[in-house]
Amino acid sequence: RAKKHLAQNYEYYSAQMEEQMVDRLVMLRSLRSDFQKDKLQLWYQPQICLKSGHVLGMEALLRWPQADGSFVSPAVFIPLAEYSGLIIEIGDWVLQQACKQLQSLKAHGFPQLRIAVNVSMPQFRNHRFVQSVIDCVERYQVDPALLELEITESVVMDDPQIVIAALNKLKTFGIKVAIDDFGIGFSSLSYLQQLPLDRIKIDRAFIQDFARPNGTLIAETVVTLGQKLGLATIAEGIETKAQEEAVRTMGCQEAQGFMYAKPMTAADLLKFLAKS
Ligand code: C2E
Ligand code: MG
Ligand code: MG
Ligand code: MG
Repeated sequence: RAKKHLAQNYEYYSAQMEEQMVDRLVMLRSLRSDFQKDKLQLWYQPQICLKSGHVLGMEALLRWPQADGSFVSPAVFIPLAEYSGLIIEIGDWVLQQACKQLQSLKAHGFPQLRIAVNVSMPQFRNHRFVQSVIDCVERYQVDPALLELEITESVVMDDPQIVIAALNKLKTFGIKVAIDDFGIGFSSLSYLQQLPLDRIKIDRAFIQDFARPNGTLIAETVVTLGQKLGLATIAEGIETKAQEEAVRTMGCQEAQGFMYAKPMTAADLLKFLAKS
């Protein structure tokens, strides 16, 4: 009986796994098709100077709209795009959109604003990556110092040598680099000095910790680390005045979060910038 029960369980779980895999494949097919039909959008979330309150730039964030008006979360479709390699083409498109957007901002009287773009590991593994970023900047005649690449700790840890080599080349060209979702992953601390960084982004999770006892400890440590390394720090996920005040007191210079603005379309961004 026990054996039969196990077998039934196994069949149940494998059927469930199979269903999940099929769901993912269906989603991937739909993502590829929508991407080819130019249905993906790039939205922008402002980044603010904590001293002056001025907008310094934006982070570019992918949006995948559905027929019913909803959006699939990037947390769901980005891993799928990474797994399938589709992120290489999508990432290329994101860079082009961001450079076009920098050109458009300049034309609209905002020549000093920067755009940060998230970059995934498969993009770094692509031999043409560095040149394609440089080509893109040249094609749209943007100031390379206004383009920032955001890489997470896990990207660095995946293959530090590839990432460091690529970033060094891009750095020579004048492009900026931020480390995203930064915590205190011990494994990556030693790479911080080898990476050509300009900015550290404090992971939203540590901002959310502020309400807890000793909850500011990690954010404080990251800000201090940034100061010692001569890097700017930006706090992501700022939702309240209290969180803003806390990171400002720590010496953090910049912030991004729903309190200032949610990610928005390029058209809404121009309206937002005109108002602020
Ligand atoms: P990320 O790079 O850490 O981006 C910040 C995420 O935090 C965004 O989620 C943003 O909407 C969200 N966020 C910003 N402020 C707040 C806040 O105050 N409260 C809360 N609760 N959330 C806030 P989003 O747009 O869902 O993106 C999720 C992740 O997907 C990104 O995390 C990034 O890792 C990835 N992603 C998005 N666009 C791209 C892209 O173009 N390329 C790649 N490779 N990854 C991307
Ligand atoms: Mg990011
Ligand atoms: Mg982040
Ligand atoms: Mg994140």
